[in-house]
This record gives sequence, structure tokens and C-alpha cells, in this order.
Amino acid sequence: MGMAMPDPAPLVTRFAPSPNGRLHLGHALSAIVAHDLAKGAEGNGGGRFLLRIEDIDGPRSRPELADEFRRDLAWLGLDWEEVPAQSTRLASYAAAAEALKARGLLYPCTCTRKQIEEAGAQEGSDGLIYPGTCKRTPPDPALPAAWRLDAAKALAETGPLVWDDALAGPQAVDLSGLGDVVLVRKDLPASYHLAVTLDDAADGVTLVTRGADLFAASHVHRTLQALLGLPVPRWHHHPLLVDETGQKLAKRRGSPALAERRAAGEDGRMLAEQLRLRLLRLGT
Ligand SMILES: [Zn+2]
Repeated sequence: MGMAMPDPAPLVTRFAPSPNGRLHLGHALSAIVAHDLAKGAEGNGGGRFLLRIEDIDGPRSRPELADEFRRDLAWLGLDWEEVPAQSTRLASYAAAAEALKARGLLYPCTCTRKQIEEAGAQEGSDGLIYPGTCKRTPPDPALPAAWRLDAAKALAETGPLVWDDALAGPQAVDLSGLGDVVLVRKDLPASYHLAVTLDDAADGVTLVTRGADLFAASHVHRTLQALLGLPVPRWHHHPLLVDETGQKLAKRRGSPALAERRAAGEDGRMLAEQLRLRLLRLGT
């Protein structure tokens, strides 16, 4: 009794793989970071570690891989709570997109990647920056269109924003490196940016963990949280595993999938311990 502090809100993290390819070491690292942050690496035994299957990538999605992912995570010695897969949430994506459209914050874009390249698009922090072709000249409404966030209008609504990364510290939102990103794909009711922002809010995620290659995307996600009135989590972008030549391990050819290592009889818990040691050396 006495002067006890109120319980802090429980830490909620998640691992959100897409079943369009097998999991590799880089995925294992991401899962371990999220799991350990939630489960007591910092004494927060009340934290929750969620698994969400991001299975809306149309023809590339192979639903049977979700079971393989669960076996991989168990093999690594992780335990988790599973939340509904993205394919069950399409209505919420469509509703949010319609709300943003009604406020004039999205515009349709029919450009192909080739057209964007030919329009002289600059390389940004996450691929080409859209040169605004369809913003200046609205496209034929009969053509299939993606919907892009009008970054200038969004900024005018939100004003200056900040977000907080556990490793890199406070960040002022700056959309200039990304431009007008796609929020609704031509073939899907959402892009990664819209779906993951809505899902993390719906799942009560309080600490978004993922690889440093997605650092810039958080400027977009923080903007969407402000536009849609969603709670604002913290972020933890962890360093990526690289090989001796500095190449991202996830991309290296010939790196066996976790499922192959598992089938070959490797000890997954020992592999997880090795990855934790590498993380320490990477300075997280
Ligand atoms: Zn366009």
C-alpha cells in the first residue's frame, strides 16, 4: 500500500509477416526483437506479443505459409497471441480510405511504374517520389486507379507532427522523402501504409517494431494517425542483419529459410540466442 505508482500501460508489440515467401533470418530477428521487448527483456512481464498475418497481397499470397510461420516461431522458442489476419479487415481499410477521399486528401492515379520513371521521378527514401502527374491532370475516371495521399494537403491539416523512435529519438514528420504515397492500390482496398496503420491501432500496438529499412514509412504512418484520430504508438526500428560484405541478409541468395533449417534438425532456440547476441553487437 501507500505510494505505489499506477501500473504503466502494458507494452504491446507485434510481428506481421506476409505469406508470400518463407521466413528467413531477418524475419527471425524482427520477431525476436518484438517478442523480447514485450516479454520481459526490460522486466515488463505484462507485455503482449502479437502475430498478425498480412495476407492481402493478392496473387502472391500463399495462405498455407501462415502455418509454417507459426511452426517457425514456436521453433525459435517464442510465444504469441494471434490477432485476425488482414484479409478479415478489408472493410475497415475501405472505410478509412473513403473518409480520407471525402475530405479531399486522396487523389486517383493511373500511372504505371514505367510512366513514373519516364516522368523523371527522383529517388526518395523509399523508392521513387511520385512526380504528381495525376495531381496536376486528373486521369480518365474509367481507368483503374490507385489513390495517393496528397502530402501537402495532409500537412496543412495536421500541422507539424513528431514521432518517437526508441533508438533514434524524436523525429519531426517529413514527407518530402516519400512524396504522395499510395494508400489504396489499384488491386487492393489498401496499401501497406494504410493497412498497417489501421491494424496497429485496432490491435492496440503501443510499440511498433520493425527493421530500419522501414524507418521513413513511419513519417507517413504518423501522419495517418493524426488524420484518422488514431492513438500514437512509439517505434523501435532495429538494425538489419548484414553479411560480411554489408549486404542485407534477408536479400542474400542461398540463405536457407527457417523452415529448411528446422527440417534439417537445427536447434531453433539456440539460433534465437545467437541472433540475440548479434543484436547486442549491432547496438540495440
Ligand atoms: Zn498518376
